[in-house]
Amino acid sequence: MAMTTSHKLQKALRIAFCLAIVAGGTLAYFLYPPEPWSVTFPGGKKFAFSIVDDTDLTKLERVKPLYDLLYQYGFRTTKTVWVLASNDLSHSPNHGDTLKDPAYRAFVLDLQNKGFEIALHGVRGGSSTREDIIEGIEEFKNTLGHYPTLHVNHSYNKDNVYWGVHRWSFAPFRWLYGWIGEYDFGGEDSTSPYFWGDIVKQHIRYVNQFTYSDVNLLAVNPVLPYHLPDKPYVNYWFPTLDGDGADHFNKLLSEDNLNRLEKEGGVCLVYAHLGAGGFNVDDKRHDDAVDPRFEARLKALASRNGWFAPASEILDYLRAQPGWRGEMTFRETVRLEILFLWNRFLVGLSREGRW
Ligand SMILES: [Zn+2]
Repeated sequence: MAMTTSHKLQKALRIAFCLAIVAGGTLAYFLYPPEPWSVTFPGGKKFAFSIVDDTDLTKLERVKPLYDLLYQYGFRTTKTVWVLASNDLSHSPNHGDTLKDPAYRAFVLDLQNKGFEIALHGVRGGSSTREDIIEGIEEFKNTLGHYPTLHVNHSYNKDNVYWGVHRWSFAPFRWLYGWIGEYDFGGEDSTSPYFWGDIVKQHIRYVNQFTYSDVNLLAVNPVLPYHLPDKPYVNYWFPTLDGDGADHFNKLLSEDNLNRLEKEGGVCLVYAHLGAGGFNVDDKRHDDAVDPRFEARLKALASRNGWFAPASEILDYLRAQPGWRGEMTFRETVRLEILFLWNRFLVGLSREGRW
């Protein structure tokens, strides 16, 4: 009897050992980094930098001082906007100014005239059917003189493209998400009332996929921007770096990280909610006052020889450089997904449901 138990234990240990070897080998295979890609930037600049600003909760009086500072220090970044008023204010991230507000519209047009990029965060905070999306996209064009080049999915909008379970290329992650995910999205599903994949394909060049905690996107993934064959409605994907709120922004753009960014000749596209309040000082009487750490980081960046341009301009430039290859291999695709999950695990569940 004792022998049988001992044999069973030995067998279980052997199986566990074999499974660990297989799991470790599989992980090592997927995580093996691709060949690095080094690029040179216009005018001998040492690195490229931009911000992709998610427009959630934006109020004109809160973001204007932030954009005044960006302009003052020579930055031209990317600001997403909503065109139509929200149809679901029960979900708090849907709050914020839209192009329907005359003063905010004038502010956005002024930013564009100053060289900032105006991009799309879906046509509104809240789900939109195809009919509304067409109305919103045309109104974007009528207001700004062009269709959006860049789009960022928003929270639980059902019209998000390749979001939720559809975001993952690696089947086990899709199964896992299907098991735990509560929301479904249909922007790329031609049978869905929220379908607009063909419009994305026709008008929009870049869509944000994942966000990481590194400071250099080329170190995360040297294929930038990239196309995914299993997600044909998106022309090119790009990842971003987590600089949300003054705490993360400050940490991401620390002197050590900026030294690394410059040394590596990197690309830094920061994902931030500039209008959500995290960049303003926590004072109810003066909630438009800027957190001094934000200005300190802008000053530190501006003192360096960086290329400060909108995200789409940087991505267009990268696509034209020697050695750029837009197609990702399946192994590289899965690697990015594992790295994203690992990042999320380390920083905790992300804000506004960016899963
Ligand atoms: Zn959002």
